[in-house]
Amino acid sequence: MIQPERITSFNNQEPKGSYILYWMQSAVRTRYNHALEYAIERSNELKKPLIVVFSLDLSYPEATPVHYRFLWDGLQDVKRSLSERGIGFQILFGSPVDIIPRIVDDACMMVTDQGWTRLQREWRQKVIDSVPCMVAIVETNLIVPVHVASPKEEWSAGTFRPKITRQLPAFLHPLTPRHVQVESTDYQPFTEIPSAPKREFNQEHVSDDTSSQSLPGGETAADHYLSVFLSGTIDRYEATHNDPTARATSYLSAYLHFGHISPLDIALRVMEHPGPGIHAFLEQLIVRRELSHNFVWYNPRYDQYEGLPEWTRKTLGKHRTDTREYSYTLADFEQCRTHDRAWNAMQLSMNRTGYLHGYLRMYWGKKILEWTETPEEAYSIALSLNNRYEMDGRDPNGFCGVAWCFGKHDRPWKERAVFGTIRFMNEAGLRRKFRLDGWVDRTFELYT
Ligand SMILES: Cc1cc2nc3c(=O)[nH]c(=O)nc-3n(C[C@H](O)[C@H](O)[C@H](O)COP(=O)(O)OP(=O)(O)OC[C@H]3O[C@@H](n4cnc5c(N)ncnc54)[C@H](O)[C@@H]3O)c2cc1C
Repeated sequence: MIQPERITSFNNQEPKGSYILYWMQSAVRTRYNHALEYAIERSNELKKPLIVVFSLDLSYPEATPVHYRFLWDGLQDVKRSLSERGIGFQILFGSPVDIIPRIVDDACMMVTDQGWTRLQREWRQKVIDSVPCMVAIVETNLIVPVHVASPKEEWSAGTFRPKITRQLPAFLHPLTPRHVQVESTDYQPFTEIPSAPKREFNQEHVSDDTSSQSLPGGETAADHYLSVFLSGTIDRYEATHNDPTARATSYLSAYLHFGHISPLDIALRVMEHPGPGIHAFLEQLIVRRELSHNFVWYNPRYDQYEGLPEWTRKTLGKHRTDTREYSYTLADFEQCRTHDRAWNAMQLSMNRTGYLHGYLRMYWGKKILEWTETPEEAYSIALSLNNRYEMDGRDPNGFCGVAWCFGKHDRPWKERAVFGTIRFMNEAGLRRKFRLDGWVDRTFELYT
């Protein structure tokens, strides 16, 4: 089922060209992809071939070779799976703003998937402004489209939860795959657009760094991790998801970030699974994740210190000149050179695996605030490290997670130096939750 609220249409005009184009960008998958299924419906209705393209921009801000390797894995899965379904697919190299307008001249219509961050939105707007045909943007990476969940920036999970929960019955519905009536596997209309050979692409851009121990990308790997999670881990989720030594979380965030798996698919499969973890997990997957998208969608300064609520900037401003016991630069943090062995292990985990457990991310961000000369500098360091070293970085969840460390979606706590009334975290708190030393030793053992 594709709810009409998922679709936003532009350039309403008669379809005249010879094919339907799906510009795939943020939903790099074939399973549970509403944009793909919508494009197939249009292709069948107009009896025109469907061609899917992905525009691979090798200068995407803050993307590293490790990110490109993950993305590339996903594109290979898409290629295979679309071919099995009789649908043509091309990876085109360059910015979509240059490429897409060059290939739509003869398209009846263009379908694309939704993006929320500034660059993703600018890309779509510029493309829409310069293409002659009808365009549909389809929301498929959120369970409830962001404007339906709430018409404004929400104050907290407490204000957002009842709003999104009311919408769930309308959106928690399976999506059945459609069959294409006009096969297009051999249809390659865009021969003049650069499509760099894989070898050259690999050498320049994709990490083959053996010290990197990050997860493989793609929908096959995503499905594997979801199956592992459902076959037992979920039962431990509620009680132990805040314990990094318990390995009780799903490890799906990078797959969600790259659109290699659909949150709707995850939610429906989790809901089929009787057991204790469902509620706690859906709170993270739906309420927290979609609240992050609410933040990024409605707050134009989501990636700047100035985008924080007034009360947090006020209290941090009041404590701006407080003496910092330690003060580090971006390079110190990046190279794990703080006095705190546990913090260094956290950054090491990010550097080597592209992943840090969620509970530790909170401590990690709070300490950057504590050990930097100004809150503005701390904000920019935390975002930069998060975006470059987390495989799931540059995501609404990352912008929101960092903002949370500075008070966003939280409330004032007891006043103290440097933090003002922003919530504080310390090592003793971590020790109360789990065996910190064991986690730190193991991390150094594995990654140095
Ligand atoms: C400082 C900081 C930075 C963060 N940066 C990112 C980031 O760059 N990208 C990212 O996806 N998440 C980020 N998070 C949120 C969260 O830590 C990760 O999503 C989670 O740890 C990923 O692991 P998992 O998939 O095993 O999570 P699980 O516990 O299995 O959760 C399932 C899914 O729910 C969502 N989720 C879980 N916790 C949160 C949360 N607190 N807020 C929003 N959604 C959540 C994620 O999509 C996650 O994949 C950040 C949090 C903090 C405090």
